[in-house]
Amino acid sequence: MQERKLMELAEAAGTIAIVGHVRPDGDCVGSCLAVCNYITEQYPEKTVDVYLETPPVKFSYLKQFERICSDPETGKLYDLCICLDSGDRERLGKNVVYLDAAKTSICIDHHITNQGYAAANFVKADASATCELLYDFLDEEKISRDVAECIYTGILHDTNVFKNSNTTERTMQVAGAMMAKGINFSRIIDESFYKKTYVQNQIMGRAVLESVLFLDGKCIFSVVRKQDMDFYGVEASDLDGIVDQLRITDGVEVAIFLHETENHVYKVSMRSNNFVNVSKVASYFGGGGHVRAAGCTMSGSVHDVINNLSAQIDKQIKEHEA
Ligand code: 5GP
Ligand code: MN
Ligand code: MN
Repeated sequence: MQERKLMELAEAAGTIAIVGHVRPDGDCVGSCLAVCNYITEQYPEKTVDVYLETPPVKFSYLKQFERICSDPETGKLYDLCICLDSGDRERLGKNVVYLDAAKTSICIDHHITNQGYAAANFVKADASATCELLYDFLDEEKISRDVAECIYTGILHDTNVFKNSNTTERTMQVAGAMMAKGINFSRIIDESFYKKTYVQNQIMGRAVLESVLFLDGKCIFSVVRKQDMDFYGVEASDLDGIVDQLRITDGVEVAIFLHETENHVYKVSMRSNNFVNVSKVASYFGGGGHVRAAGCTMSGSVHDVINNLSAQIDKQIKEHEA
């Protein structure tokens, strides 16, 4: 079985770096800490370091969360680098140094746009989450409650609580196997997914209030500018969920949410409901993702960004209607 490879590589390595994508989400933090916890439980003698950009504190209930290092030490060499939930090298951000310096590497991922950038690559675009895929790499009987909490968290977040169209029978089987490990799943769902701070609710309310329909109501967009983020004192991770709220607007096929990262530079998040392949749109502008959830970074005025995205989306809508 190909899936044995992760443990074979881990067994052979004395030092291991685990890396995930920039602006880490639940699947990224969950998969990195699942692997970290599993390896440190099975092989306590090995050096295991996890490198991620500062993760959202809402995931701090995960075991070894405090072990995540957000200041890359350039030049540190590892026997093995494990890349999780990142569709391409660029998505690793500064932590790509650990991939480049490692003696060998493995990537486990579920992005349709992943071309295979590590020495060994396991990409299954039909998996709801990297955490779902990860289950195949671990021995069921060796999965502890701590590891199960990580895996459940990843699946929960990438499926938006088991309701996105990427949720399959397999997804529920893996989540069920994690529940059998005795995790407090309802607490995890409330604490990490539904709970919002006051300002997170405020900025979501404002983004929804200011949203605009276009392409005959088939698309919707909203934007949060840097000055708004400063005003509310929020960071990018406080904007989670806004694009999903826009997506459920009646009649909408594509939702777009922009937030300004630098002057006239926007992080674009896209979601679609039925037929538009937003991964194709994101890839056209240098990003990537999944068929129903994708993103990229674009520069210019909001007007230009929306016009450029709109042209690509409209093309797909017209093809669909033809
Ligand atoms: P989100 O909109 O939640 O930030 O991202 C949705 C999906 O698109 C995620 O699976 C994420 O990995 C992917 N994605 C978002 N932004 C980018 C990007 O700039 N480049 C690539 N390759 N993928 C992205
Ligand atoms: Mn992710
Ligand atoms: Mn993922």
